[in-house]
Amino acid sequence: MKNIQLGWVGLGNMGNPMVLNLLQAGFEISVFNRTKDKETPLLDAGAKSASSLQELIATCDIVLTMLSNDAAVKEVFESPTGLLSKANSGKTIINMSTVAPETSRYLNTICNQHHIQFIDAPVSGSVKPAKDGTLVILVGATPKNFEIAKPIFDVLGKIAIHVGEPGVASSAKLAINYLLGLNLQGIAETVLFAEKNGVSKEDMLNIINQGACGNGITNIKTPSILNDSYPAAFALKHLVKDLGLAKAAGLDSPLIHPLYDSYASAEKEGLGDQDVMAIISSLRKPQ
Ligand code: NAP
Repeated sequence: MKNIQLGWVGLGNMGNPMVLNLLQAGFEISVFNRTKDKETPLLDAGAKSASSLQELIATCDIVLTMLSNDAAVKEVFESPTGLLSKANSGKTIINMSTVAPETSRYLNTICNQHHIQFIDAPVSGSVKPAKDGTLVILVGATPKNFEIAKPIFDVLGKIAIHVGEPGVASSAKLAINYLLGLNLQGIAETVLFAEKNGVSKEDMLNIINQGACGNGITNIKTPSILNDSYPAAFALKHLVKDLGLAKAAGLDSPLIHPLYDSYASAEKEGLGDQDVMAIISSLRKPQ
């Protein structure tokens, strides 16, 4: 497997550490990023740079994409110079970006028309699990394609869960990010309510994390709340996108609508490029 040539498009907060892990595991990788200077640390670590998407797919067996949103992914696949712009039958493309289930099914269809295998593989977990190689990878693929990609997923994640055909993994990803949004909104509202009534955020976060309500995400986000500093691990604008996609995919529960509105107004206030936990800054201001 390791003598297979990998290609990677999208070297943002997630793509960068994921590629580094593959390089360190011995995979040969060519990278392509729209903003070229983000390639530098990976080229220093042994990756090759492709001058175009066409060159990338022509020279690689498997291409992985980790891009912002549906529009970016569609552009990278379908533009006149995109991954599907020339014949490359027999190759495999794995999309790890979070997109609508409908987009994943569409990408599967157009890839198959080009005789390219498509795998839908969004991830649960942020920058730290990406660096540690402990992501949870949700896979929508045929059983045969899942087996082809498994050695890559074994490096990037602690588990790859095969949930069905392309599209189903994107649905699973929107569901888990709904729970993430609820958790972060809940932590923020709880800490602010406690503070208003004389309980310090240090004490309240300690109570949360020591008790049954503490979980992985409360522990991960505690330092940023204590320091009141929210550099993006998972940008708030991406959660607004995911909650919007969940609504569009049929989520119509009592909490999704106010939850979406809360994060969307935080984005409008200029917090979109900060970490999702910056929702607390939006909620803190006088109502
Ligand atoms: P990011 O830091 O914002 O990086 C986005 C990447 O997409 C960059 O490489 C960017 O290129 C590229 N891109 C955007 N529009 C493009 C276009 N039109 N054409 C070509 N490239 C384009 O995002 P991220 O945090 O790595 O997240 C990537 C995906 O993973 C998203 O779908 C997100 O929802 C999902 N995700 C993120 C996390 C997390 O914690 N961060 C966790 C799980 C899943 P430039 O460098 O040129 O801007």
